[in-house]
Amino acid sequence: MSGAVDDYPRTLAEFERRFATPDACRAYLAQLRWPDGFRCPKCGGTKSWPVGPLFECAACGRQTSVTAGTIFQDTRTPLPTWFRAMWWVASQKTGASAIGLQQVLGLGSYETAWTWLHKLRRAMVRPGRDRLTGRVEVDEAYIGGVEERASAGDRPRKRP
Ligand SMILES: [Zn+2]
Repeated sequence: MSGAVDDYPRTLAEFERRFATPDACRAYLAQLRWPDGFRCPKCGGTKSWPVGPLFECAACGRQTSVTAGTIFQDTRTPLPTWFRAMWWVASQKTGASAIGLQQVLGLGSYETAWTWLHKLRRAMVRPGRDRLTGRVEVDEAYIGGVEERASAGDRPRKRP
């Protein structure tokens, strides 16, 4: 099994250290997307090398982003900020508010915070747990809660 859950941070301080950089966040997303190692969505190849933030298939050259098809796709917001937002939303037992999110992340506008909150709520299948093990399902990527995949059953993969 993947270590994604076992070594998942238990405190906010651990969390921020663990996901301090976009690379660290991407590595985590990659681990969740490909628990058994890289798999090319085009040819099924299992060898890849990094090209900037992308994984390039050694067999066919197809470049894959771990954020493709997720709520992180095309965002200009750094991944560590998204990750912090998810931690925070998941940890609000009484329900997260847009105002709270705006304050915690220092977002410029209430509208942005509101949009984020709703994106995150849509993506998080089981919010409101004391740490981010609630499964955040963003197409094929999951933040936390990998152990629930077995019981929920894998959905069929979408064809590109
Ligand atoms: Zn390939």
